[in-house]
Amino acid sequence: MLKVILVPQGPVQVKQPFLIAGTASAGCAGRNLKLTIDNRHSTNGPAIGLDGTWQLSFLFHQVGNRTMKFSVEDESVELTVQMVAVVAPPLGTSRLRFTIAPQTTQTGQITTFAGEADGYANGTQLLLRADQRYELGRPQVQGGRWQAPVVFGQAGSRIVLVNRKRGGLAGLGGAAVTSIVVCARSCPDPITSIPGQIRVEEMVAIAGEADGYPEDAQLVLRVDRQFELARPRVKAGKWQAPVLFHKLGNRVIEIIGSEQDQTEVTVNVQPGELEITPRSAWLNQPTPPELPNLQPKRITLHHTALSSSPPIDATPAQEAERMRFIWRSHVNGNRWSDIGYHYIIMPSGRIYEARAETKRGAHDLTNDGIGIAFDGIFTSVAISQPQFQSAVMLCAKLCQRYGLNNPVTPIPTPTADYGTRNLPLIIGHRDRRVATECPGSEGGKTVRLEEIRQAVKTRLSF
Ligand SMILES: [Zn+2]
Repeated sequence: MLKVILVPQGPVQVKQPFLIAGTASAGCAGRNLKLTIDNRHSTNGPAIGLDGTWQLSFLFHQVGNRTMKFSVEDESVELTVQMVAVVAPPLGTSRLRFTIAPQTTQTGQITTFAGEADGYANGTQLLLRADQRYELGRPQVQGGRWQAPVVFGQAGSRIVLVNRKRGGLAGLGGAAVTSIVVCARSCPDPITSIPGQIRVEEMVAIAGEADGYPEDAQLVLRVDRQFELARPRVKAGKWQAPVLFHKLGNRVIEIIGSEQDQTEVTVNVQPGELEITPRSAWLNQPTPPELPNLQPKRITLHHTALSSSPPIDATPAQEAERMRFIWRSHVNGNRWSDIGYHYIIMPSGRIYEARAETKRGAHDLTNDGIGIAFDGIFTSVAISQPQFQSAVMLCAKLCQRYGLNNPVTPIPTPTADYGTRNLPLIIGHRDRRVATECPGSEGGKTVRLEEIRQAVKTRLSF
């Protein structure tokens, strides 16, 4: 149930911050409320904390009634706040101001607020409140000044207000307002470890501290205030999570303990570095120049279907030897003019230039595209994560180079049986009705074909 539990009672002066808080059903934790103001302006509202609470501070500049509608899924709640003009204190009477108003503090720590109270008689009692609800202190005016020590028990942001105590309820007229963020205990830096350079499609570990959280407490790591990346658990006051970014540019990472306790940091996700080992590194002989030229129309993915591919931590020397082995099996075994594929991606993720990209390959029956092979047999096992990342980077680069702008939408494509089939521009060998298992399982699952297409599409859109 979406409910409002804190809302100003009565009119609020313009240009003064106020707070609205509420609860939502626990199933909505981590989601954002949608906020619509005056049935016109819609925006992302506050996030719902893991404990189901949410809050948002407002500040309006215009007089009049403001209608606020909060909604999540099919639940919504609406309320109206009356904004009134700033009431100037009667001339020559009183004026309250904050002169000491810390922006942050910690729970359990003494925090001093102080200010001026021009025109107030000595001994006048003031009322210091949080969120227009909780009394923080009753400082007395001495020599036109006041001060009050305050201890906050709970973390969260607070609107702090001082005004004159009149009988029971204190009115808002002449009040001074400030806000403060209260951190849990020692205010550790909750995100302590961010890799210096974050590249797209590259797994990185982000870690931090979670002071005061019980063992195994679950946190939420979110990006761009929208997508959940991970739910790390607290171990001995620390947390860490492996993270993979698919999009380039500035991304906001948040670690969320609750609505009251979260922090964020902005990282810049860089393009992955595409490194291709040139053919000259493994073979002292170029692609025969008499081979027909190629204007690539698509990209076909293969597996080499050869056993004993180098391990994921192989050295470049081992992989160069493997490249010569594949070359020999194509040239001496198959009697081809050159190695069949244009590129081979080793389990380590290293990309090797094979046949010159400008020359027609020998990798499928039509050979009207670039042939990229994952070294190994992928009928039942999946390609390695480095192989996946390299394939995305390489395919994106080739799509750019040859104007293959849409790697996702199927178009009529010639097939081995002299027919056509609707296929995207990045395909698996068998997709063209070729009698082969290549590049492994049906639909390219083991070589993550659809994921590669989608990731390439994302990269091309930047
Ligand atoms: Zn193949």
